[in-house]
Amino acid sequence: MRIEELLQRLQALGAKPTHQARVMRAWLQGQPLDSGPRAAENVLPLALRQALPELSAELSALAALGSEHPAEDGSARLLVRLTDGQMVESVLLPRDGVCISSQVGCAVGCVFCMTGRDGLLRQLGSAEMVAQVVLARTRRKVRKVVFMGMGEPSHNLDNVIEAIETLGTYGDIGHKNLVLSTVGDLRVFERLPQMQVKPALALSLHTTKTELRARLLPKAPPMTPEALVELGEHYARATGYPIQYQWTLLKGINDGMDEMEGIVRLLSGKFAMMNLIPYNTVEELDFQRPDWEQASELGRWLHRRGILTKLRHSAGQDVDGGCGQLRARSIRLHPR
Ligand code: SF4
Repeated sequence: MRIEELLQRLQALGAKPTHQARVMRAWLQGQPLDSGPRAAENVLPLALRQALPELSAELSALAALGSEHPAEDGSARLLVRLTDGQMVESVLLPRDGVCISSQVGCAVGCVFCMTGRDGLLRQLGSAEMVAQVVLARTRRKVRKVVFMGMGEPSHNLDNVIEAIETLGTYGDIGHKNLVLSTVGDLRVFERLPQMQVKPALALSLHTTKTELRARLLPKAPPMTPEALVELGEHYARATGYPIQYQWTLLKGINDGMDEMEGIVRLLSGKFAMMNLIPYNTVEELDFQRPDWEQASELGRWLHRRGILTKLRHSAGQDVDGGCGQLRARSIRLHPR
């Protein structure tokens, strides 16, 4: 379901824009759909009130909790069942964030990612994305939403934009706390500046070498790291939010000093921060995680050269924490 269809349904039931806003706000807060101010002009039409119980059940079924897997770092992975039985992952992050999925599977095929292995299975509707946030709110507080779970948001951009506009318009989440993560696609840089709600941007860089990037992210749009950083910089200056560059550290592949020098060359003076994320080793894939102390030293080295750098864990490493691992394991155990 798309949010646009939901709003049309409400309208067909007699809802004026104020009624629509009231229902949407209640949904996002996890409240009964008719909750909110009851001033005379805000009394919901009878047809709408009668339809609300059914609608409420429908919205709850959009993203149902399959299982929850708390991790030692304070995060928790949720296996989320969609209405058609497909499953995606959401991650409750420490400090009131949630990372949500935008697709079942993914067509980018990053060679170090489980989600990319089966290709794209289906797109998520905007309502299914918002429903993951509503589900997360049944577990804990949510003040930040990151579109960085399964899928490449730029490959489902209409739905992702609709979800972001919904969360930023009817929800209580600050716009800079809505974060769209992408491998880089021109459409993102064309469309985001036109949005009412402008999200922050995370860009998956992973290497400063064009040819290596094409091997690591085989179906990402062909764009040099320089071009990606230039587009990112333009957006960061226009919105006032720094770009968060994502760098999955793969031992022996992109953790050498040549790459670190490349980062300094690309990001010096840019309105940006670099997140180094040591790879989370997966049995099925042939990549190694670099030593944590060595990764810390790389972070310190970059920092000394003026690149704002954070070394981050991939959330929930002790619970099949790599993107798509939980779903992959669940499908092995319970084939559809
Ligand atoms: Fe897709 Fe992200 Fe996995 Fe790459 S890392 S295959 S973009 S889900």
